[in-house]
Amino acid sequence: MKPLAIFGGTFDPVHIGHLTVAWEASELLDAEVRLMPSRTPPHRATPCASAEQRLAGLRAALAGQSRLTIDDREMRREGPSYTVDTLRELRAEQGDRPLVLLLGEDAFAGLPAWHEWRELFRLTHIGVLSRPGLSVVRSEILWREITERRVANPVVLSHCPAGAIVELRVTALEVSATRIRELLASGRDPRYLLPAGLFADPALLQPYRR
Ligand code: ATP
Repeated sequence: MKPLAIFGGTFDPVHIGHLTVAWEASELLDAEVRLMPSRTPPHRATPCASAEQRLAGLRAALAGQSRLTIDDREMRREGPSYTVDTLRELRAEQGDRPLVLLLGEDAFAGLPAWHEWRELFRLTHIGVLSRPGLSVVRSEILWREITERRVANPVVLSHCPAGAIVELRVTALEVSATRIRELLASGRDPRYLLPAGLFADPALLQPYRR
């Protein structure tokens, strides 16, 4: 069975960095990839756009292709969006199907601060996506977990349901939503850093303009 990969984020707004790495992860893992926007991210400031606006942006960005889909379950859940709760739900739904949590290098380095983080390895594999431009330091506690679990070949992940970590060499794009929000707030037009679908409806970028 093809693995199911989950790529969570605030997507405030979704940009070409997100889409490129999600797309390439789907190829490298031969997996179904779902983008999963979070309503109330526990580890960061409140997003600039509302949950509904961010979801509408994702829908517009993904129009016209079927490789990447949206799973909006965290948007429908009240309270903080803990990844471990989402993965428990997915595990109950998917039986023994391999699950892969996709994380950019920066998000992966922050993993030991997540709610019940060690439990994640019982529920899912982790695919770490290379991300340029950020200085990321992995703590010793994280390194210990990596050493035991690392596999080199992404295909190995399809042979068991959970527990491995693989580094996915995806095309490096130094793009962040922070930078895009700064550009929009200063009146600039980051036309080619964003998927074309976000320009189809002026309301989608309105929350970021001053
Ligand atoms: P912000 O700048 O607001 O923090 P962001 O661009 O990092 O946003 P998020 O929605 O916070 O985007 O990130 C969701 C996931 O996407 C995280 O795992 C993050 O590491 C990853 N990610 C975002 N941009 C890139 C990129 N250019 N390359 C690789 N991974 C990325």
